[in-house]
Formats: sequence, structure tokens, C-alpha cells
Amino acid sequence: MKVTVILPAAGLGTRMGRAAPEKDGTSRKQFMLLDGSPILLYTIRKFVSSAWVSEIVVALRADDINWVGELLKHEGFAKPVRLVEGGDSRQQSVENALATLSPETELVAVHDAVRPFIEHAILDKVFNEAAETGAAIVGIVPVDTVKQIQRNKVRTTIPRERLILTQTPQVFRYDLLRKAFDKAREDGFTGTDESSLVERLEQVEVSVVAGSDRNIKITKPSDMDLARHFLADETAAPKAEP
Ligand code: C5P
Repeated sequence: MKVTVILPAAGLGTRMGRAAPEKDGTSRKQFMLLDGSPILLYTIRKFVSSAWVSEIVVALRADDINWVGELLKHEGFAKPVRLVEGGDSRQQSVENALATLSPETELVAVHDAVRPFIEHAILDKVFNEAAETGAAIVGIVPVDTVKQIQRNKVRTTIPRERLILTQTPQVFRYDLLRKAFDKAREDGFTGTDESSLVERLEQVEVSVVAGSDRNIKITKPSDMDLARHFLADETAAPKAEP
């Protein structure tokens, strides 16, 4: 089965408080160094070592393509890792990567480049489910009570049992994802994840498999403390590869 992973990594990381694009690998969250390597590299390694994955496509800002390409050459990955130019939104970055996939692709997984701690057991579950149903995403149940507000006033409390917080990967049949992106472009729809694009096709029900608290999206400076902790854990007890 041909499975391609798209890693959108073309963000400016403004929530980290350093919007200036730098090329030295220390500024934006996908390039923050963890034990000497950019976060993106850990994420790529996770997918290279998954038996499900045939190739990886990374969407980058044009300025980053050369130096990241050099970095990857040194890694000598056992699977093809291609670099494409991203866009001004996450959705556009994924769409650009999607446009470069061969029509023989069967499943496409989209995974935030800034979630390096995805576990192989979860990858197995979400790939299996998507292979069976056509669409599967990873999510965790919220532990806090969620409320809808207007300015600073509570409007309603949303029953927690029916909610999930979505993580990535989000995995879809290739033709379905292409269709979802085409339709979103046609309608001028922008979503914050791929599933929202697929949901509005009303063609398949998207399955949810249990994610994990470790699968954090490195977003703010304090997340790096947690990231160092998780990395130390992974290094101490490497998980068996599938
Ligand atoms: O901005 P957000 O937190 O949604 O970013 C999630 C992922 O999408 C990050 O890995 C980021 O680099 C990527 N992204 C992208 N192109 C953009 C904006 C974000 O590839 N224009």
C-alpha cells in the first residue's frame, strides 16, 4: 500500500514570539533544537521508521528549502523525503504538497511537523482504521470543561462527553483528500485541519482513534521543557519498531 506523509512545516511560529524568519534553526518552532537537532528532524525520523510509510513530503518556506535539504542529506534516510514550497496558510502548504503526489498514492497522512512525539502504536491504529474506512484522525478527550463565550461572558457549556481535541496524524484515502481540497478551494473554505475539509464533503464518516498526552504540538516556549522531558524518556527506553 502506497502511503505518503505530508508534514506542513512552513509556519512562521509567531506564537513563539520570534516572527523573523531565521535560517540557523533556532527560531521557528519546527526548527527549534532538541538535543542538537531541529524538531522537524525528529518528526521525520518517526515516520521513516514506520513500516506503513512509503514517502514523506515536507512543505517549507522557500528560504528554508536549501538548508533543510542539506541537513536531510546528512541523515541519509532510508525512504524518500521530498521538500516542496509551502503557502501562506497551513491549508495552502498541505495543498501544495498534495499536488505533487503520484495518483498511485493510496493513503495520505497529514501530520504537524511540530508533533515529534507521536507513538508508533498510535500510527498503527490510525493507519489501520483509515485503510479500512477511508478517513481516520487522532484525538484525545478534553479534561477541562469547555464553554462557548461571547466577549468575556459565558454563553453555553458544551457537554464534554461528546467532544474531542484533535491531534495529528489525520489520514485519508488519497482521492477523498484531493476531492476535499478541490471543494474547499472552490468554496473559499479554510479549515484549521484536514478533517474539516473532508467532513464537509459528507461522503464518509471520519473515525477517531485515541491519541496521547505526549503527542503535543510544540507551540509556545514552555512546551520545550516538556519536549526535552519526553525526548529523554524516548531515548532512555526506545520503543520497538513495528
Ligand atoms: O500554525 P499552526 O500551529 O497551525 O501550525 C501547524 C503546522 O503547520 C506547523 O508545523 C507549521 O509549520 C505548519 N504551517 C505551514 N504553513 C503555514 C503555517 C503553518 O506548513 N503557512
